[in-house]
Amino acid sequence: MKAVVLTGIKQMELRDVPEPSIQKDTDVLLKIEMVGVCGSDVHYYETGRIGSQIVKYPYITGHECSATVKAVGSSVTRVKVGDAVAVDPAISCHNCAQCKLGRENTCYNLGFLGTPGQAEGCLCEYIVMPEECCYPTNGAITLEQAALCEPLSIGAYSVKQAKLSENANIAILGAGPIGLCTFVSAKAKHVNPVRKLEQGSKSRLQSEGQSFLSNGVNACYMTEKIEERIKAAKKAGATWVGNPDKQNIVKEILNKQPDGVDVAFECAGQQETIDQCVELLRPGGKLILIGIPRFERISLAIDKIRRKEITIINIRRQNKCVQKAMDLIASGKVNVDFMITHRFTLEQTQDAFCLVAEYRDGVVKALIEI
Ligand SMILES: [Zn+2]
Ligand SMILES: [Zn+2]
Repeated sequence: MKAVVLTGIKQMELRDVPEPSIQKDTDVLLKIEMVGVCGSDVHYYETGRIGSQIVKYPYITGHECSATVKAVGSSVTRVKVGDAVAVDPAISCHNCAQCKLGRENTCYNLGFLGTPGQAEGCLCEYIVMPEECCYPTNGAITLEQAALCEPLSIGAYSVKQAKLSENANIAILGAGPIGLCTFVSAKAKHVNPVRKLEQGSKSRLQSEGQSFLSNGVNACYMTEKIEERIKAAKKAGATWVGNPDKQNIVKEILNKQPDGVDVAFECAGQQETIDQCVELLRPGGKLILIGIPRFERISLAIDKIRRKEITIINIRRQNKCVQKAMDLIASGKVNVDFMITHRFTLEQTQDAFCLVAEYRDGVVKALIEI
């Protein structure tokens, strides 16, 4: 099969590699249809690493994808041949202490697509995944939308972790794909139908309340440096969008929101935006760290954080939110189509990576059609 293989820093080649095959009865052979280019893929392309995760060449990257089921193992019931699916790139063991705590996203034996040392990626024609990672679209969303379920699931999970109160005032710093996915998730006024409580899980579900995401935000202030992304955030319905290169965004937001915001989502991974979040938060507010910094350490204005008694919440990808992301798109509560700005073929993958790396041509999400 054809695969795009990283061969060195800023080097990739289209190669012929062996096609994978079903090994376990729970495996599904998938024909990849669409792959979204993610900032983390570009980190690996440009620098060969993210923190302690270092690429060993040759290596196939990519983790945001939709696919069609080509073959299934003997015990697979969740999908059948021909089904279109969104793929959860995280293969967790369900056996370690973290999995047993329900924290599959920090599984000790995690195999995540396109993560060095864990699994090869999906920038190729075929991959094999366990059936539980395959989410059939049932025709409710397109293959392009299905490829956006993974980044949207991170936005949905971030909003869930923030436990927004009703009519919260929030700030989202950074309007790239993850910032926008966080915004559309927060905006989606989404109340779950009352679930039948399983025995024993009553107290947990009750403490989470019925609303899975938010009960609607009152105001959402966003900041971004790239003009096209500012326009995208405005079009998506942000209350106010500012450019920190051109204006004092902290002053302007605090003019509108003198007490500060309840929750600040950091989606840029920059020291500057982390500092701005701290300035923008009201006492007792929550700082949600989603962006991936390019450096190993950041500094925190601890005096301000302490005096304001700010809660810091880190987001590690997502946990059990892929189906939710798909439902949000299918129901029309969330629109992700406006984020897709560019489309490439597998042969043009390097062009797509360069475009995203350089933030050129107003790119938000670039998709590669396999
Ligand atoms: Zn991603
Ligand atoms: Zn595990």
